[in-house]
Amino acid sequence: MWDTLAVCYNESAMNLLDAVDIPSLTIIKYPDPRLRMPGETVTQFDERLHALIEKMFELMYKGNGVGLAAQQVGLPLRLFVANPTLADDDERVYVNPELIELSGTAEAEEGCLSLPNLSVSIKRAAVVTIRAMDAEGNVFEETGEDLLARIFQHETDHTEGRLIADRMSPIAKIANRRLLKELEETFASS
Ligand code: ZN
Repeated sequence: MWDTLAVCYNESAMNLLDAVDIPSLTIIKYPDPRLRMPGETVTQFDERLHALIEKMFELMYKGNGVGLAAQQVGLPLRLFVANPTLADDDERVYVNPELIELSGTAEAEEGCLSLPNLSVSIKRAAVVTIRAMDAEGNVFEETGEDLLARIFQHETDHTEGRLIADRMSPIAKIANRRLLKELEETFASS
């Protein structure tokens, strides 16, 4: 019974991707409820997935970001792309990411393409090992420090429907209340 359910679930995720007009995707903004959708596991590593990944890189660069998750283009999939150095040969793809080891703590300013103009100090693990698949479905593990560790955590949060707005300290929440409110009003009127 559980196997049958799992198959249906995965098929619905893939049908969703088949129905998406990939060229017209844009980065969605807080508080769009699609940012809150936990991602479904990606099971098909085909041209549709590759086209989506290419589009996500395009949107990430256009927004001057170093990472972008599927939720940020409105899709509930476990997938993110990143380029921590913005060098041509540093494009990274993480499908079905899992953080398997976290150590130390580091606090730094963080922004998000779905929360424009927000910059908040967030405490994260300093060193993180991620397990994921590449665009062809090959499993790999990678350990990142500093910015890369932060990207792993920020983007994996997105794939689980979590935002930096949820990780802000109470003081940062008060300091940024107005900005969040403005985003909420913009969204409500769009
Ligand atoms: Zn983000």
